[in-house]
Amino acid sequence: MTYRMVNGKVETPEGCEINVAYHCNLGCASCSHLSPAFRRSLAEPETIARDLALLARSFRAQFVKVLGGEPLLHPRLVEILHSIRAAGIAPRVLVCTNGLLLPRMGEDFWAAVDEVEISVYPGRELPEEARARILGHAEDHGVTLTVNHYSHFRYSYSEHGTDDEQLIRRIHATCQIAHVWRCHTVYEGHFFTCPQSVFIPQIIGDPQDIRADGLRITDDPGFAERLLAHLRSPQPLRACRNCMGSAGRRMPHQQRTRRDFRIPQQHTTEELADRRFLALLETVPDADDGCASAESAPLLPSPSLRKRS
Ligand code: SF4
Ligand code: SF4
Repeated sequence: MTYRMVNGKVETPEGCEINVAYHCNLGCASCSHLSPAFRRSLAEPETIARDLALLARSFRAQFVKVLGGEPLLHPRLVEILHSIRAAGIAPRVLVCTNGLLLPRMGEDFWAAVDEVEISVYPGRELPEEARARILGHAEDHGVTLTVNHYSHFRYSYSEHGTDDEQLIRRIHATCQIAHVWRCHTVYEGHFFTCPQSVFIPQIIGDPQDIRADGLRITDDPGFAERLLAHLRSPQPLRACRNCMGSAGRRMPHQQRTRRDFRIPQQHTTEELADRRFLALLETVPDADDGCASAESAPLLPSPSLRKRS
């Protein structure tokens, strides 16, 4: 299933994403949102409410996923969750988190969310008692809870990038983030195909150009058609020049500090590419990236089990 125009609105078979805290309380190497490189920075709840209300006139998703960085670091998270629901852009609201702050979340949080996806990394597991408490909250509030364990990452971006247009096209065409999971992202009045095109320019690009890959959200009559064309475009984004898409080499999970997060990526795209996996993706677009470890299992089955925090 792909994008459809229904009653003047673009409908996606997947969701759209809102990043509420760009920084994180972990520092996973090659985090695809580059969160370890960010100092404390939070999205404005008023901006999110305004953007989603405007976008809802022309766009319909199956769910809105709230993530970051670590979304539970946002002090006004519950207010944001309510405003997402009020925008009416999707019937379900999900939060994707590393789970470390979940035991502290109050009843108002659990009442405001439909699903919680927890991404667990080696050495950062929750104690059994905290897991039991979280499960109890989820059951009390009818919240779907999913726990995924990740032992590996794939290099998500390259500091030096590439000028090889053919390689950029292949990485874009096989990108699961854009074309399989469809992690479309709303950020500061703009609609982006993927979170990487929001975050890569902020860390390694021209600060004047950070919205270059975004489509400005408006309420004029032609916006829905422009959005559909944007989503169906086969053209790589500007950020694809430095992005590994789904084709980065696999690396074991490790934690890094903000100071050394960017060091492993100081290579060209050619050096960081997994050519074998790239070729596989060209014939099997939804091939497993091999990053989840064996103990990954939904506590309560969820159709949205596919995105680490
Ligand atoms: S920047 Fe390009 S390759 Fe990277 S996630 Fe976005 S569409 Fe995919
Ligand atoms: S992968 Fe998730 S938990 Fe790890 S640094 Fe990135 S946002 Fe934080």
